[in-house]
Amino acid sequence: MKIITKNLMEAIVEQKLDSMIDSLGCCKCDVCRMDILCYTLNRLPPKYVATTQGELLSRIDSLSSTFDISVVTAITSAAEVVKQHPRHELLKEVDDNK
Ligand SMILES: [Zn+2]
Repeated sequence: MKIITKNLMEAIVEQKLDSMIDSLGCCKCDVCRMDILCYTLNRLPPKYVATTQGELLSRIDSLSSTFDISVVTAITSAAEVVKQHPRHELLKEVDDNK
């Protein structure tokens, strides 16, 4: 058995983002997806737990409904920001110049 520390909020947001990304109307590339994830997580309180991988999944299930509305709201406004200021071209250029 391996104990890990994990930000439950991150797992919840990631799961939620994947389930609603199609309805956000924004770019779905890795850069934009990660940007939405980071932007959302910076605006929500972290929820760190010491747990096992198995218990983590059941905790996400029981907690995700508790945070559902605030998570959905945060993801939606994050998607608006990323839609207006996508960084995929910028990051690609910087990466190509390396
Ligand atoms: Zn993109």
